[in-house]
Amino acid sequence: MARRLDPALQQRVDAFLDAKGLRRTKQREVIIHAALTTTEHFTADELWEMARKIDRTTSRATLYRTLSLLVESKLLREIDLGRDQTVYDPNFNESPNHNHLICLDCQRIVEFEDTHISLLEDCITRRLGFQPASKSIRIEANCQELKKTGTCKARKGHA
Ligand SMILES: [Zn+2]
Ligand SMILES: [Zn+2]
Repeated sequence: MARRLDPALQQRVDAFLDAKGLRRTKQREVIIHAALTTTEHFTADELWEMARKIDRTTSRATLYRTLSLLVESKLLREIDLGRDQTVYDPNFNESPNHNHLICLDCQRIVEFEDTHISLLEDCITRRLGFQPASKSIRIEANCQELKKTGTCKARKGHA
């Protein structure tokens, strides 16, 4: 396996598996590792391909079950990028308040953080009598290629 899981993240995974009384099977570990060591956003199908490269016996049933466990444990976030498919984002562990720019054509994703936006979101939320829990905004945009040429060659790229 390429990258090791960050020790703090590994602890959260272990604690979660323990709390759920789940065994550490090879398959489950491969899926968790693949999901949490990438910095790209991915679909279930893309994770399936990543996991199959490490362990060919990985089953789809285990993949879907593990994915929903990771979302439940907040180690992985399901995000709405305006696509038909569900996209998973492992980057909220490191940057819990990041935002997304997404190209309307090629759906290229660019992440960004901004303390001013974050403060503003807090202010608005409190002003309306709520308590901020998690925040992320999505900006639909034209990427440089779309802006320049009016169309993107790659339909689906992950920046
Ligand atoms: Zn993201
Ligand atoms: Zn584009």
